[in-house]
Amino acid sequence: MARQRGGSPTALSTWRITTGDHAVADTLASSYGGIPHLWETNGGHSIEVLTRRDRVPVLLDGEASISLRMLMRGTGEAFHVCDGTRFLEPAAARGSVCGCPAGLADRKAAAKAGRGPTPEARLRFRLADLPELGAFSLTSTSWDFAEELPTLVGALNAADTPALCVLQYELVEFATLSGIDVSYRKPVVEVGRCASVAARSRTRPRADRAVPRPRDAQLQW
Ligand SMILES: [Zn+2]
Repeated sequence: MARQRGGSPTALSTWRITTGDHAVADTLASSYGGIPHLWETNGGHSIEVLTRRDRVPVLLDGEASISLRMLMRGTGEAFHVCDGTRFLEPAAARGSVCGCPAGLADRKAAAKAGRGPTPEARLRFRLADLPELGAFSLTSTSWDFAEELPTLVGALNAADTPALCVLQYELVEFATLSGIDVSYRKPVVEVGRCASVAARSRTRPRADRAVPRPRDAQLQW
């Protein structure tokens, strides 16, 4: 845990990575620390590695590596999956206007009142130190992160492809007007701030990084 000087309080946490592949888990553990072990899950990622890393250099393939959808689970009209403007699901409504407000603040208000969906952002990336392991993903339901995505897209469009970035989780803590302490975490993506890793990854053969293997692992806090 660390605190930023002069800014808002920030705590860093180490990354937890899940995968269904024992060889991938072993490689992650030897590079990032931690011991692979099995954990209870219904999904395919049955091995987790609690790494010792709070910052992970990653490679993002531009705008295509980011997706955002809005979700409200439930039955009937309460089931709503959209891109903010048009339905993605249910399948019968796909492509039709979903009625969500245009602004994020209004969408947030609707969600808070139980009348609208909440964001689910997904990043797909490769690990800059281990690109041969293929694609990883990170899913976030943070409104702050959703709000910052256009800025991230802009930064990625201005950067090389793949863009070398650093992933970390930031703890945001504040007190509400009524005095209640609130804290939550959001992922933070720094674009192009790790020259030493950039230099190292440039020396790798390009073919190494070109085709991610079809297995997918999940990076989570
Ligand atoms: Zn919608």
